[in-house]
Amino acid sequence: MTVGRILATKGHDVVTIEPQRSVADGAALLARKGIGAIVVTDPEGRVRGIFSERDLVRLLAAKGAVALQEPISDWMTQDVVTTCARASVHSLMEQMTTGRFRHLPVLEDDKLVGIVSIGDVVKQRLAEMEQEQQALREYIATA
Ligand code: AMP
Repeated sequence: MTVGRILATKGHDVVTIEPQRSVADGAALLARKGIGAIVVTDPEGRVRGIFSERDLVRLLAAKGAVALQEPISDWMTQDVVTTCARASVHSLMEQMTTGRFRHLPVLEDDKLVGIVSIGDVVKQRLAEMEQEQQALREYIATA
């Protein structure tokens, strides 16, 4: 199973924000879209960082609500780990476990073509397990 198969099911939409926008704008976007992370991109669409709900919690704990007016680029993670459509879901799970994060932007030729969250991976694995169980049931019934 590949990352491309997950994107084929969930779609290629990625919620992004420009680096100079405020943390408050980022938080509002996370809430409005019901997601856990947004990708920070420059005007050319290149990935500059990622900002997740964990970053928001950390900054509120460290600086309080006053930090909500600061640019999101000051609080995003700059070294973004990415994946590609050809990558296996297994390698994705390893990356998330090792890096201790739950979101992986998908790039093709440096272009953002999707994002996969740990929730997408779990959903995919459950669907696969159900298919395997069904195939086994059918095999047993006809054996
Ligand atoms: P998350 O588990 O995705 O909410 O993110 C936990 C922390 O890892 C936050 O500081 C994020 O900014 C950071 N993070 C999330 N996804 C990535 C990624 N793909 N590459 C690097 N850092 C990330």
